[in-house]
Amino acid sequence: MNFLGHDLIRMVVGFFSGGIREDHDLEVRLRIRVINIISAITILILTFFGLTALEKGKLPLGYFDFSVALIFFITQIYLRKTGNYNHVKYFWVISTGVLFVYLFNTGGIEHTGHLWVYIFPLVAAFLLGARKGAIAISALLAGVIVLWLVDLFQGTAVYSINLVARFLVSFSIISFSACYYEHFRNETLQKLETSNLELDRQIAKLKRAEGALKKNQEELERRVEDRTRELIKSNEELQREIAEHLKTGELLRASEEQYRLVFENSFDVVFSLDDQFRMVSISPSVERILGYKPEELIGRDLIELNLLPPQYVKKAFRQITEVLGGESISSTDYEVIAKDGTVLIVQISGAPIFKLGKVVGMSSIGRDITAQKKAEEVLRQAHDELEIRVQQRTRELERTNEALESANQIKSDFLANMSHELRTPLNHIMGFTELVANKHFGDLNAVQEEYLKDVLQSSEHLLSLINDILDLSKVEAGKLDLKTAEIRLGPLLENSLAMVEAQAGKGRIRLLTEIEDNPDTIQVDERKLKQIVYNLLSNAVKFTPDGGEVTLSARYLTYRDDRWFTREGQPVGLPWDGNDLPVHCERWVNISVRDTGIGIKDEDLKRIFNPFEQVDHSLGRRYQGTGLGLSVSRKLAELHRGRIWAESDGAGKGSRFSFVIPI
Ligand code: ADP
Repeated sequence: MNFLGHDLIRMVVGFFSGGIREDHDLEVRLRIRVINIISAITILILTFFGLTALEKGKLPLGYFDFSVALIFFITQIYLRKTGNYNHVKYFWVISTGVLFVYLFNTGGIEHTGHLWVYIFPLVAAFLLGARKGAIAISALLAGVIVLWLVDLFQGTAVYSINLVARFLVSFSIISFSACYYEHFRNETLQKLETSNLELDRQIAKLKRAEGALKKNQEELERRVEDRTRELIKSNEELQREIAEHLKTGELLRASEEQYRLVFENSFDVVFSLDDQFRMVSISPSVERILGYKPEELIGRDLIELNLLPPQYVKKAFRQITEVLGGESISSTDYEVIAKDGTVLIVQISGAPIFKLGKVVGMSSIGRDITAQKKAEEVLRQAHDELEIRVQQRTRELERTNEALESANQIKSDFLANMSHELRTPLNHIMGFTELVANKHFGDLNAVQEEYLKDVLQSSEHLLSLINDILDLSKVEAGKLDLKTAEIRLGPLLENSLAMVEAQAGKGRIRLLTEIEDNPDTIQVDERKLKQIVYNLLSNAVKFTPDGGEVTLSARYLTYRDDRWFTREGQPVGLPWDGNDLPVHCERWVNISVRDTGIGIKDEDLKRIFNPFEQVDHSLGRRYQGTGLGLSVSRKLAELHRGRIWAESDGAGKGSRFSFVIPI
């Protein structure tokens, strides 16, 4: 039952709240509810009145009632659908005004006059508020008075002045009370607002106070935390310190124990003296070293001990005094007399003993180094002896060297003289043989001619051998000097080629050139450079089979930052770098002789530059030669402060002889 009653109330409240929107304030909501109630009652009453009028046969009145009820009904539906209170409120005020004017004109006011004295002003004041309501009321009142005055002058006025005056009073009373009420309400609102502001201020103050309180509390908590952390830390430190103390104690005990062990079992002698130079303690090892038992020494002073020879006593006093002054003495050698009178060498070091910050004595270690000293002495003697022997040997070697050098000199001189001496008769032999062979002294038969040719050939060979020996010995004897002059490379090389042309022609060997001539001159010993080139060319022609090729090439190189470059700046790979070169120079000339001949095996490439070295030594060898050409060439290249070398891909694959000289 109760439950049903609640539902009913909710339904009724819901019905009369139709048209209320979220954004409507309290006052508007109240007005909408009042509009809804009045509308519902009006619709019911007008429908009832309409029906009654129809029943009584008053058709126009009945329809009028129905029409007004319908208007209310439509307004209700519009309000509920749109919630647009403003439209409805103006519609109400206007339609009430229009109805009033209509009734006033038709004389209907007379019957419902008492009602109309209040209806319009109440509706206007209620729906539009005091100010707008008062304007609407005044406008309507003015209109009514104008209408009445017009009627009055026309003589058609139906209303007495009393009735019009009643409108004036009632309209004014309602307008005035609405204004007063609004004024009173505004005042109350203002007061409320002021007290609200005050309240807000109080709340803000309270909040601030609360914030400050919270901050204080946080600060306090933080401090408590910090303090707790500090306490924990100091507690840990304390525990660590305690643990360390315990450990230090243990270590101390262990070190004392160790000291005791060292003291008792030491190989060295551990002893201590007091500040009166008296022996306080000494390790048992003293007996093994000096022959004394510890108790024989303890309690005696330095003099009584009689352990040191007189010359060391003074030194000992001085050093012990230093230690008692707080210093330490590092290992110092002392002679010490053992019980049986033998003298030992003991190395002693000492440090002060402190008690309550004061030096009360000296602790020392003595090590017997007699054997070591003896060994050192033996070693030193051996070293000295060795030194003397090395010096003797060096002197001997120097003498031998000198002898060798002078023998070499004699040999070179001898060879030079001999060669010279040999060349003179040989030239005679060759000159005369040539005269005979050229038939200046009569005809020769075929055999004689053949033999004389052989003699000439052998003589030529002998001459070239003698010439090479002469050159070599001159270089070795240091008698060959460079006679440098300004020359141009191109003509020199062409000249050298011309010298082997005939020989090459015999074997149909093509002579090619790749010569990069420099218009500028270079500074070299022309004859010696020509000799090198000629040696290489004649070897190339000699060791190249018929129909082969010999190429002479020359180019200018620069040597910078340990690398070789062509004149165009292209890097070149040569088997020499700064360490091998006898001179640091930037500009060089590089001359090579390449052939398609018999080639050279890898293992022979270096060997062939030694004097008398030939790859083929056999008596029946195919190629004539002395084995001196390359060694002379090397000497000449080195005399120019250059380098010479050979390259070959192996036997039968041709070879290439090159040299570089600085220019
Ligand atoms: P030789 O008078 O024998 O030519 P060299 O000193 O000029 O003496 O040469 C030594 C040796 O080096 C020669 O016997 C030869 O075996 C080798 N040799 C020199 N030049 C060439 C070459 N162009 N091709 C091959 N082997 C060469």
